[in-house]
Amino acid sequence: MGCNIAIDGPAGAGKSTIARRVAKELSFIYVDTGAMYRAVALYLLKKNVNGEDAAEISENCTGARVSIEYRDGEQIVMLNGENVNPSLRTEEVGNMASRSSANPKVREHLLLLQRNLASENDVVMDGRDIGTTILPDAEVKIYLTASAKTRAKRRYLELTEKGIACDLDEIEQDIIQRDERDMNREISPLRQAEDAVLVDSSEMTIDEVVEEILRIYREKVEA
Ligand code: C5P
Repeated sequence: MGCNIAIDGPAGAGKSTIARRVAKELSFIYVDTGAMYRAVALYLLKKNVNGEDAAEISENCTGARVSIEYRDGEQIVMLNGENVNPSLRTEEVGNMASRSSANPKVREHLLLLQRNLASENDVVMDGRDIGTTILPDAEVKIYLTASAKTRAKRRYLELTEKGIACDLDEIEQDIIQRDERDMNREISPLRQAEDAVLVDSSEMTIDEVVEEILRIYREKVEA
């Protein structure tokens, strides 16, 4: 059994940047579960599945064979044998993932992959239901959040830096809608596990958040 750090929180809270850094500091592997949901979403988009049609999603999702490889410490998501990393981070895929991840069949389809990675390795795993459902016995649980405004601003900067034109208000609305879907779905809704430590990064730098999580880890695991 590996040592497990679960980091959950809403879209844009900085989970992947922080989790990747914490994993590097501790020589753990970083498991990005959002990327797995995105890979399933990409598959459904390619098959022209309607994101509002639960039956169609259930029927088709098992055709998405998702596996994970690591190259130079980077997580590579393989979808039916193909590296799909370059196609996962678009708004279209993110929106489809937010819809299809509410489907119990999709969640069941990815559950074992996530649990197996955590049982075989020391992991920092980020997502929405890691501390509550996937790894209820994780040694460290963090609920990482920030205000919707802060998250929208960060996303806006990230996109403009890449030269992608975007609108701050639209991004904020999109984030609010995603929170709404993630927090109110019936299965595995996003919520803070009872034994998770809340970290609000609205007024913190990345370095400060990484330090705080390492401090919590040392307190709980190394003490
Ligand atoms: O974190 P990321 O934005 O990549 O996740 C994409 C979508 O996948 C989220 O909006 C969320 O609905 C879903 N997700 C989930 N459970 C996870 C990780 C992601 O439902 N553990």
